[in-house]
Amino acid sequence: MKMDRKEPATLLALAIQSLLSNDSAAIHALGEIPRELFIPLFTAAFKGGHKKTLTEMVKTWPFFCLHIGNLSVQKPHGELLKAMVDGLQILPAKNCDSRRPKLRILDLRQDTDCRTTCPAISTKSPVCLYSCVNAKQSMLKIESINSIVTSESETQSSRKAMELLVDLFFDGTLKEREFISSIVNKIKQSLGFLHLCCRDLQIDTFYDCEDILSILDLVCIDNLAIEQASLSEVTTLLSRIVQLDSLSLTKIRFRSLNGDIFRNFLMHLGRMDHLKELNLSSFCLTNHLEKLLRVLPPDLDFLYLPFCEVSPRDFTFLSQCPQTSHLKVLNLSNNPMYWEDFEPFQTLLENLSGTLRHLEINNCLLTDSTMLVFLPALSHCSKLRLLSFASNPITMPTLMTIVQHLMSLMELKYVIYPIPVHCYEGCYSQRQVDRQKLGEVQTQLKMMLQLAGRDDMRCMTYAW
Ligand SMILES: [Zn+2]
Ligand SMILES: [Zn+2]
Repeated sequence: MKMDRKEPATLLALAIQSLLSNDSAAIHALGEIPRELFIPLFTAAFKGGHKKTLTEMVKTWPFFCLHIGNLSVQKPHGELLKAMVDGLQILPAKNCDSRRPKLRILDLRQDTDCRTTCPAISTKSPVCLYSCVNAKQSMLKIESINSIVTSESETQSSRKAMELLVDLFFDGTLKEREFISSIVNKIKQSLGFLHLCCRDLQIDTFYDCEDILSILDLVCIDNLAIEQASLSEVTTLLSRIVQLDSLSLTKIRFRSLNGDIFRNFLMHLGRMDHLKELNLSSFCLTNHLEKLLRVLPPDLDFLYLPFCEVSPRDFTFLSQCPQTSHLKVLNLSNNPMYWEDFEPFQTLLENLSGTLRHLEINNCLLTDSTMLVFLPALSHCSKLRLLSFASNPITMPTLMTIVQHLMSLMELKYVIYPIPVHCYEGCYSQRQVDRQKLGEVQTQLKMMLQLAGRDDMRCMTYAW
């Protein structure tokens, strides 16, 4: 027999809502309610934006860990997260009442599949599945920097570092600065008890982030993204990082690709021997791609090179180097490819025929003749799931030929095609689209897919 769980759930939800409608009553109740109720109460308080209650809940949290998990915050560093950081009790007061706070790990990262708290296997030595392996080491490092004197009874082994897990985004906004400064204050107050664990670091502006970067232990960083910085700023940061899974550099300024700064950058990049994903956007590398790729480990999974002014010489290297022989994702959009010899690109596609899942070559000035040259190689990429070649000057007959060939790729589900040149009114470069002509193109492609029994494949387009 199926149990009807709807009614009790509604009653619980009603009780929680009524409790949350009065901040002081909710806070008072925290000392009395059974610990199991903390979890649904936390979820409701978070969703309802009850900042004061959240601060108190963190202070009195009766479990070892607390994860935001899949709860969504409207703005990346909303006030809710700040309220939670404010509630962190690094050194719990000795005269606590019967219910001593147990929280040791506060995880403010979003989009993870984890539960609000990890299941307790043993109450004596609780574990958190997301705890940081570097926490203890990091705590010792901070202690030695601060020369913190510890008494015999407070030796490292008896202490347990508290962990604050957070993805940091520096975008220069006031909200983000307030959030960061509350974290900095907590760390300064913690006398080395708090390990700030940042695994994803994104810097859109270096302005105002020196304070936290100086106290952040970069040993935990797996994913680093930097936008609009100088190459020497990037290199300085990279020199403090041990390993990276992914690196994204956008609009990086540098004077020359022959000087010491670039050599130094390559030296530190070369240490990242677990790197799987490299994104270089608007990073003018003409004829220097080889120098950069050579220092990377073989078998990159993801390579993004949009707006990098890639030259035929760079392409020749791409088609030969082991670093790009097993790519799953390749983005070469916005690199004008108006040269004659497409053999290197063909070779590259042939090399990737067993691994490539996602290819983007939008806005590359690819013409009918060039597309037809590498179409046979493309048709062998049997793992391809997405192909995007929008905004290239291609005619209707060529578009039909391409789609016809692509239909043999059974894994291919998404094709983003260019609007054929005859749909543009007047000059192609002015990009005025005749909607009626475009509608006819869409109908024809749809019919083609239906006839071939490829209803699972979606063809779409957009004006650049
Ligand atoms: Zn946990
Ligand atoms: Zn850590």
